[in-house]
Amino acid sequence: MVLGTEDFRIPRRFVSVNVVDIEVARFRSAIDAVCTEISENERLASERLGAQYGAIFTAHLNLARDPKLREEIEELIRERTYAPEFASSRVLRRYAKLFQNLGNQYMAERAVDIFDLEKRLLRHLLGTEREELAHITEPVIVLATNLTPSETASLNPEFVLGFATEVGGHTSHTAILAGALEIPAVVGVGPFLSDVSGGDTIIIDGNHGEVIVDPDEPTLKRYRVTRDRIKTANQKLELLGQLESKTADGVPIKLYGNIEFPEEVDHCIKRGAEGVGLYRTEFLYLKDDREPSEEDHYNAYRRVVDPIPTLPVVIRTLDLGAEKFPHSLEDLAEVSPNPVLGLRSVRFTLRNLGLFKTQLRAILRAAVHGDIRIMFPLVTSVLELRQAKMILGDVMEDLEEEGIPFCRDIQVGMMVEVPSAALLADRFAEEVDFFSIGTNDLIQYTLAVDRANPTVADLYSAADPSILRLIRMVVAAAAKKDTPVVVCGQMSGDPLYTAVLIGMGIREMSATPFSLPIIKQVIRSITIPQAEEIAAHADTLDVARDVENYLRGELKKISPDEFS
Ligand code: PEP
Ligand code: MG
Repeated sequence: MVLGTEDFRIPRRFVSVNVVDIEVARFRSAIDAVCTEISENERLASERLGAQYGAIFTAHLNLARDPKLREEIEELIRERTYAPEFASSRVLRRYAKLFQNLGNQYMAERAVDIFDLEKRLLRHLLGTEREELAHITEPVIVLATNLTPSETASLNPEFVLGFATEVGGHTSHTAILAGALEIPAVVGVGPFLSDVSGGDTIIIDGNHGEVIVDPDEPTLKRYRVTRDRIKTANQKLELLGQLESKTADGVPIKLYGNIEFPEEVDHCIKRGAEGVGLYRTEFLYLKDDREPSEEDHYNAYRRVVDPIPTLPVVIRTLDLGAEKFPHSLEDLAEVSPNPVLGLRSVRFTLRNLGLFKTQLRAILRAAVHGDIRIMFPLVTSVLELRQAKMILGDVMEDLEEEGIPFCRDIQVGMMVEVPSAALLADRFAEEVDFFSIGTNDLIQYTLAVDRANPTVADLYSAADPSILRLIRMVVAAAAKKDTPVVVCGQMSGDPLYTAVLIGMGIREMSATPFSLPIIKQVIRSITIPQAEEIAAHADTLDVARDVENYLRGELKKISPDEFS
């Protein structure tokens, strides 16, 4: 299923033979409507801007009127019973590709005209109705320019077998959600949608970040074998779920699960997690069009804590803002060219106290039923932390007055995900019960590399010596106060970094449940001195790529069966 920039679904649909004439007529009236629309644009542009601008549309009009093009599309409808949308898209994309492959800049730009025509035609054929991603009812691979986190959250893993997007980075929230939903995905492929149309055969190789369009038979066969092998290997790893998470020399390393949806607590249990280390609650907002009520929050938290009442559940308060902005809060949205540095996360909740207090009330109430802890995201200054804690105190007073049961001695922690928090970790350690290092944002803000931008994805690395140094600083500052430190960014779910994190003193990690078995496998294969040696050597290297290569080599030695 292909979604273009305007998110039209181009269905691979066939029509029955007895309605072929009606479908051809539908196509003709759509293309006639397109011609009228273009002529109107041509007239307006000529009038307002001059004839040379109107001529831009003349090219479009000639294309839309081209009898050969119409003939080809009608032939697919008549002879192959393709639905007009499918037939138009197939023919136009084939032409676009031909133009793009001529190796001439001028001709390549004509492909843009063809896509424009396709868009207009589909708009007429499909009407304004857009098929909702949430309502897919047959198995498909979704290919899109972009999927927002909320669109991704609405995908049903039962039918969406995989997805690939042209934009995005591997720690973008779209990618994180793919992990949560356990849907194979590749994001940030770059432009490729002109090469595909609905109904093509596609391979999504999430392990290597590859999308293979129209694979030949030997490739398909090879991938089927690989897929089955991975399935068997995963089943074997799942058996590790119930074994203890400790190093080969017996030091326990706590492993928790990161979740975005309450139901994922079941994935955590299945994979042997010792609790939930990060519950990204903003997804309560992103899945629905309406703002969640206190009861919606409360029910979600009970759904998480009830099956694991004795295990820690870290609920992170709303990390809304930047690309995570739901429809229901559109009025509060900030128009900024740089939203990642804008009003997001704890800054946003501190300015929208109603919404913040609603959530805090629900957390405190649910905490009566288990070991729930609160965590504030994107804390950048001690003042901000104190303000958030003060609001928490106010909410407790309200609940007290109202006689509603709640947990008073709840643990309060913070994400360390901006350099200022890492640099001042000694100060923060005086005021929180625990730290959770969010490497996804820490890397983005330290290296000034947008985590969702594929153009600079090669500059984004957890192996950068600056990131390793910041983690060491946090561990050292926390140790002085006995403040526990968890790592909860994607780094902790990547086996490449397991040894170096342990070697730097990390004893707790929280990751996508799916990745926990392989991380545990690495943990059980190394000793602390080995890990420390690896971290010490990594510390001598200056360049992220050298650190990555070194760690890759060490991982092959630690776990040859899985990584060689
Ligand atoms: C992080 O930034 O590392 C993190 C865990 O939070 P998120 O990915 O939700 O921004
Ligand atoms: Mg973050």
